[in-house]
Amino acid sequence: MKVWSNAEWEQQSRLLDERDRLRRLHTELRAAATSRRDYEPHDVTDDEAAIQADVIEGRLTAVDEALERIDSGGYGRCTACGSQIAAERLEALPAAALCRRCVS
Ligand SMILES: [Zn+2]
Repeated sequence: MKVWSNAEWEQQSRLLDERDRLRRLHTELRAAATSRRDYEPHDVTDDEAAIQADVIEGRLTAVDEALERIDSGGYGRCTACGSQIAAERLEALPAAALCRRCVS
């Protein structure tokens, strides 16, 4: 069994909080997109809510994948080049899958 470091516990709880927040936001956006669509089919904000919901979905996937990496022991390593992701980057973006070099 893998022993988690304090940093991993900390990042896991941040990721779980983030996932809750994103799920709530996603539900609200989807509801907004659908309810408006029923009454005002041509309202631009329908699409905006739907686009935002898609963005949130992408972030949720990233959070889920980061949680899986904590489980499997790959958390904090760049999924592209395998190098260690800077602590400041993980601090700012707990779900980061790529190091700064691979992102740019
Ligand atoms: Zn990399």
